[in-house]
Amino acid sequence: MSSDSSPTITDIFTCSLCGFCCHGETTVSLDEHDQERMVQALGLSREEVEQKYWRITGSVVQMQIRDGHCIFYDKNTGCTVHEGRPWRCRQWPLHPSMLADENNYTTITESCPGFNKEISYEEFCRVFRALIDRGDVDKFSR
Ligand code: SF4
Ligand code: SF4
Repeated sequence: MSSDSSPTITDIFTCSLCGFCCHGETTVSLDEHDQERMVQALGLSREEVEQKYWRITGSVVQMQIRDGHCIFYDKNTGCTVHEGRPWRCRQWPLHPSMLADENNYTTITESCPGFNKEISYEEFCRVFRALIDRGDVDKFSR
């Protein structure tokens, strides 16, 4: 654990790249802002991104699935569109709702093996709040 004045993300979380959160037969949906950010991050035209990476069903835009996981997931490096990932991905697993309710903390930490299980819920909240106040969380999330 780092000193009280300078907690770091690794005090509470280190992604194991297990891929659990990027697997499944569907992905999170992308809102307009997500779509623009992803197009920019990939450096392609919107049409190319739509064709290569998205699954569009009516007004719902999701990422395509390959081998049971998001097309951007790589088992060695994790998310390959990290800078352009959707906001719902950015909030996982360090979701602010964990601060409001310990049940949310329990549910999320049971799904994600990256959490430091050696510290108490209270200590987790203290560090997480400090990281949010410092604007550090999004830089380090999955
Ligand atoms: S964020 Fe958690 S569930 Fe997702 S790959 Fe990392 S350790 Fe696994
Ligand atoms: S965009 Fe990245 S973080 Fe989100 S599901 Fe796909 S691989 Fe995972």
